[in-house]
Amino acid sequence: AKENGRDGCVLYSKEMDKQAEKHLLIRTELNHAIAREQLSLVYQPLIARDGSVASVEALLRWNHPHHGMISPAEFIPIAEGSGLILELGRWVLLEACRFIRTMEMQGIEPPMVSINVSARQFNQLEFAQKLLAVLKGQNVAPNKIELELTEYALLTDIAQVRHSMCLLREAGISIAVDDFGTGYSSLSYLKGLPLNRLKLDASFIRDMADGDASTAIVKSVIDMAHGLDLKFVAEGVEIQSQFEQLLDLQCDLFQGYLFHRPMNGEALKALLLTNCSK
Ligand code: C2E
Ligand code: CA
Ligand code: CA
Ligand code: CA
Repeated sequence: AKENGRDGCVLYSKEMDKQAEKHLLIRTELNHAIAREQLSLVYQPLIARDGSVASVEALLRWNHPHHGMISPAEFIPIAEGSGLILELGRWVLLEACRFIRTMEMQGIEPPMVSINVSARQFNQLEFAQKLLAVLKGQNVAPNKIELELTEYALLTDIAQVRHSMCLLREAGISIAVDDFGTGYSSLSYLKGLPLNRLKLDASFIRDMADGDASTAIVKSVIDMAHGLDLKFVAEGVEIQSQFEQLLDLQCDLFQGYLFHRPMNGEALKALLLTNCSK
């Protein structure tokens, strides 16, 4: 590290060292995370307009014995770079299936579980066939699974993307576009693909305030989604006023800390049970 540069330089380079260290740690130890049982899934409900739980999103957690919880925002991009993402993706799908089966065996009607699928995973050879084979092997109905894909995943060979999606949709799997509005893609793909939901990136919701440009964007995207027969999901809903604005704009589904933080499987089961008995 640079020790005696101009003002600010020392701190800056130490910060960069820390970053590089963390990066290296993630790269070397993520390999073992599955075998060492350091991964888990947490679930965050998506709320319908009537307040009921419409589905849940599965989010990956890595609990490192020395470094504590490492955020997926940190390790997913690194896994994507190394190809390890395929192994992680398989684990996430299997774990979600096991959770659905556990609920069923305990007499709890499982909600649909949305799984984040990275571009690299979705674009691997025979992704759809492999995924359907896993569901069959785990005895999970395809209508219990939704895939969340970013615009990035749709950027490649569009004919191939459409083909996989059609296979998945015919089998009963739902498909959502995630982080909508942050990618580079043109809007034209929206009309050609068999999508179910559109999730607008949380940054637009965060910036929403009466008369603000973000509100205009949110309104237009909701109208567009409905015009295309897609359900609109607002993510990152944190305050009541955002929720009220979104209700007015005819938003279909709501996700965010205002309703629930991501929770472990046991907490989700408890929530579903209290919801049922109401
Ligand atoms: P994402 O798919 O956009 O997921 C939403 C993120 O926003 C989650 O962060 C969630 O915990 C957080 N969030 C939910 N409600 C609120 C809110 O009201 N306010 C704020 N500030 N944040 C909220 P998380 O769990 O840290 O995941 C980060 C990203 O990592 C995800 O963004 C997704 O891109 C990726 N990721 C997570 N799990 C997986 C996975 O199993 N596979 C893949 N490929 N990516 C995953
Ligand atoms: Ca997501
Ligand atoms: Ca998102
Ligand atoms: Ca995101």
